[in-house]
Amino acid sequence: MSTDPRSRAWLEVDASALRANFLAVRSVVGEKSRILAMVKADGYGLGALETVRTLEPLGPWGYGVATVDEGARLRRAGIRRPVVLVSPLPAGQEVAARTEDLTVTISNLQALERLLKAFAEVSAEADPSTMVLPAFHLEVDTGMGRAGVPWRDLPVLLPRFQDLAQQGGAVLEACFTHFHSADEKGGEESVELQWNRLTQALGGLSLNDLPHGRKGDEPWIHAANSAAIFRSPGVAAHGCRPGIFLFGGCPGWNLPVPRPVASLRARIVRVQKALPGSTVGYGATHRAQGEEWWATVGVGYGDGLPRLLSNRGEAVLRGVRVPIVGRISMDLTVVECSSAMGGDPPRVGEVVTFLGQDGAAGVSLEEMAEWANTIHYEILTGFSPRLPRIWNATD
Ligand SMILES: *Cc1c(COP(=O)(O)O)cnc(C)c1O
Repeated sequence: MSTDPRSRAWLEVDASALRANFLAVRSVVGEKSRILAMVKADGYGLGALETVRTLEPLGPWGYGVATVDEGARLRRAGIRRPVVLVSPLPAGQEVAARTEDLTVTISNLQALERLLKAFAEVSAEADPSTMVLPAFHLEVDTGMGRAGVPWRDLPVLLPRFQDLAQQGGAVLEACFTHFHSADEKGGEESVELQWNRLTQALGGLSLNDLPHGRKGDEPWIHAANSAAIFRSPGVAAHGCRPGIFLFGGCPGWNLPVPRPVASLRARIVRVQKALPGSTVGYGATHRAQGEEWWATVGVGYGDGLPRLLSNRGEAVLRGVRVPIVGRISMDLTVVECSSAMGGDPPRVGEVVTFLGQDGAAGVSLEEMAEWANTIHYEILTGFSPRLPRIWNATD
């Protein structure tokens, strides 16, 4: 028997906000752009399966994951759309990727050779009448420097990839690159530079000159992350790979803000009127100035609440912001409640909001990330498995 998921600390995920954010992307990129919804790292920490179930009716082209296991989980849940592994496939995982019908990203000739060998092995066991030519994507490194064929090498290598693919009965379905600075002020320029490198490396070819894709479809290019979608929508005309925006994270400087998707809430487990001079937490780093009201909340860094919020971050009680006092522990965090009381002390069992809205007040992902000296991506993916994810479709 599992206990009430709202008994201690939990993450609320707003499925209707996720849908609205997807539709906002759709309206910017247009109906023709193939949307590869990025659901890696368990849907940015919020739950990949629930994310995919929420997005399925909206018709993304497919889903992007980082590992074979992430892709296999989607297949096991019955997802039939393309699932693309956007990270380089570790050697030895080719058969597993093929068996799970995952689309592998290729960065060099050796990787393609290994993949084609696996294709041959697996298809020897399959019924040829039901076989669709297996597809792969080619990543081009236009400045990110972590994966892909260097753009300078592509003009020489592209025909070799194509020849190999043809001999091996595989299809180069799409080429992609990844932008490094689309989120930043002035990001248009870096996007344009990387985009030009990609298209020039492809021989200045129009997309239609690329080899044919699966089922006779034209092959295509996907490049834009959330930031580039909104900063330079033209590069998303054929396809795009939104992630953070779907999950409620602002994609970058001066870009549209999505609807918030995640809220972190936890209950008070103890209330203490602290006399002047009392100390709280490891290292006794906070000392009550006058009389203070300390509420101990059942959430800590073991849940993914960043410890850097100690004596720095804030939470919300009764629609009012309250400071986090003392060091955050693994399982417990103390907030000082005087500002939220109005003469009525906090009670055990009351809910404190660490992320998201509570009445008139709230804490945004970006604010929490700033307190923690990090980015909102790391906040989301850092929430630990101990927090139940509660998907509350409000419509
Ligand atoms: C994570 C990822 C994305 C999504 O980026 P966001 O900034 O979250 O929109 C797109 N492409 C690749 C290759 C990624 O790894």
